[in-house]
Amino acid sequence: MEYDCNRGWHSARIEPYGAITLDPAAIVLHYAQTIFEGLKAYFGVDGKIRLFRPWENMRRLNRSAERLCMPKIDEDFVLEAIKKLILIDRAWIPREKGAALYIRPFMFGTEPSLGVKPSHSYLLIVILSPVSAYYQEGFNPVKIYVTDEFVRAAPGGTGEVKAGGNYAASLKAAEVAKSKGYTQVLWLDAVERRYVEEVGTMNIFFYFEDELVTPALSGSILPGITRDSVIKLARHWGLPVSERRVSIEEVIEGAASGRLKECFGTGTAAVISPVGVLCYQGQEYLINRGETGPLARRLFDELTAIQYGEKEDPFGWTVVLG
Ligand code: PMP
Repeated sequence: MEYDCNRGWHSARIEPYGAITLDPAAIVLHYAQTIFEGLKAYFGVDGKIRLFRPWENMRRLNRSAERLCMPKIDEDFVLEAIKKLILIDRAWIPREKGAALYIRPFMFGTEPSLGVKPSHSYLLIVILSPVSAYYQEGFNPVKIYVTDEFVRAAPGGTGEVKAGGNYAASLKAAEVAKSKGYTQVLWLDAVERRYVEEVGTMNIFFYFEDELVTPALSGSILPGITRDSVIKLARHWGLPVSERRVSIEEVIEGAASGRLKECFGTGTAAVISPVGVLCYQGQEYLINRGETGPLARRLFDELTAIQYGEKEDPFGWTVVLG
């Protein structure tokens, strides 16, 4: 689908996957005026295809568009187009539990300009790709590396939307973490380098004694859809959940004393990703003896059961395509 100031959004179409042509001076290539979303279609046990809270992805795409001075989309229209695209061939959707069809809508400024300004023309594209189960060898805890050298997002920046530049800025820290043997980076706030924000492409949760805690949306944390689902599900189970500031000292002290029972990341890709080891200032801390905890497992089982239609969806989260 294309946008220009005179015609608005137009020329929506489905085309075979292939290369696109861009002017070498396209604004996106120089000034990163690009945003995206990520969601999945699940092939259910009843043979039905489901999307998980896709309206939230549409709303977040529009919040990202607003932040990057891009035109809003018609959420109903884009979601209908995504459904049509998926249903072209049901065989695209892997059948195994855990596997899914990944859906990537993205929008970027195409106007040629060497001056820094919002583009007057845009492309919105949706690509699909089958993805295999995230956990091929069991539900394994990851090792994370707390960076106090780099920051992902600063107050007033674009951290709370899904802008391509956020990910470009995160590459160096991820590379450093990988070179030291860790799979994910745990980001701290940009101002004090003290309060936990999120981890890699996931939000983060800490299970302290009988309270589940996740960093409050500070303006530089992405409001994850899985994060919101975990909060709602845990509250539905009667577990106290707080969204508040969590300092790295509280996490370290909790890991050392055992007050921190579990830690896990949440996101569309992994759903729940237990954290077994945390490295901060050269020191490693074990969480739950480096093992997956019962709360992480229960949340994973429940959310995936809803996504694959194995269980009732008491929240009305799934959209069934047929
Ligand atoms: N934080 C970041 C930076 C992410 O890229 C993602 C993945 N979209 C998340 C958190 C988790 O968001 P969601 O649960 O909506 O996938």
